[in-house]
Amino acid sequence: MRSARFAEIEAKVRAGVRLDEDDGLALFEEPDFLALGALANEVREKRHGDRTYFNRNVRLETTNVCYASCNFCSFAKLEEGMPGAHTMTVAQAMEALRRKIDPSAPPTEIHVVNGLHKGLPFSYYEELLSEMRREYPAAHRKCFTAVEIHFFAQHYGMTVREVLEKLIAAGLESLPGGGAEILHEDVRRRISNDKATGEEYLAVHREAHALGMMTNSTMLYGHIETFAHRVDHMLRLRALQDESVARGKGRFQAFIPLAFHPDGNGMEQLPGPTGVDDLRTLAVSRLMLDNFEHLKAYWVSSTPKVAQIGLAFGADDVDGTIVGETIYTAAKKKAPDGLSVDDLVRLIREAGRIPVERDTLYRVVREFPRAALEGQFKVRDRRQGKHLSVVS
Ligand code: SF4
Repeated sequence: MRSARFAEIEAKVRAGVRLDEDDGLALFEEPDFLALGALANEVREKRHGDRTYFNRNVRLETTNVCYASCNFCSFAKLEEGMPGAHTMTVAQAMEALRRKIDPSAPPTEIHVVNGLHKGLPFSYYEELLSEMRREYPAAHRKCFTAVEIHFFAQHYGMTVREVLEKLIAAGLESLPGGGAEILHEDVRRRISNDKATGEEYLAVHREAHALGMMTNSTMLYGHIETFAHRVDHMLRLRALQDESVARGKGRFQAFIPLAFHPDGNGMEQLPGPTGVDDLRTLAVSRLMLDNFEHLKAYWVSSTPKVAQIGLAFGADDVDGTIVGETIYTAAKKKAPDGLSVDDLVRLIREAGRIPVERDTLYRVVREFPRAALEGQFKVRDRRQGKHLSVVS
């Protein structure tokens, strides 16, 4: 049963009135979870209709050595030489990329994130970018989180702007959204107290936007934070996006809620979010972040099945093929190791949407036709390799 408070919020959304902190909290507490999803879907369809985006992207994590010790992280190793620690040379990183990339269907994006390694020279990152640009000039380089950029500035004695300018000269094109976790300091101090603060994370994105760069942002949810912290997180991002949009250069393109996975990290005792929490968080994000164009249902963290349902809860993007991701893999993710374009097209079509392959900057690469109704629900007979229609 939807609450009277929800009806008020619904009226605000339909009248184009911006939601405030109290509204955000009420949405997280709304008992009628399907009504919440339907309202988020209304906003999503107003912006994008049935169009649902994905890209062909490859992940590369060249080092998991990191001086920080975030409680939720299953990926990092404190020092070189520890079991499971790895750091690739630039040549090894390029070899790893070649192994991941099918030359007959090259990706349009290479996404690189790493641990905060105190023993590498800054030139390592510049060489990595320029080698990627040389060998894969058509693949957009979305590399290094705001936390990494902040670390580079501190560790190598530069301003954030200087770091960004040098990396852009070497081939950097945009920043991924990782490292946001929960921006509120009460939570951030408890889960990751030795890396960029929430304000420092935002300052890097502000500077990147001022340089004309597009970036994304994330939120790691489902651990020790409250709904109030999630709403606060969204409001901080929304405020920065207002500034960046007004400046008219770069801005955030997409918001990506990331479900916390408790395996193999310092918060193993926590259960992690449920599927309903995943969907509710997507829906509230869509309604609160009225100045973000795109909302991603990140199938790596929520599983492809929940991400698919997320397309009816406000999400208009499923990220991409994501070949070779190792961060959620370290946390024993329940999602597969990469999806094919066919998998993503099927997932989107069966949700009743139109698949659109995009590049990193949301330029259309290919729009797929809407599936005919009788073709939507097909199952593959694995023994015979044939498609069997289950709808007459
Ligand atoms: S989340 Fe990032 S900064 Fe924190 S320990 Fe893991 S790799 Fe290091």
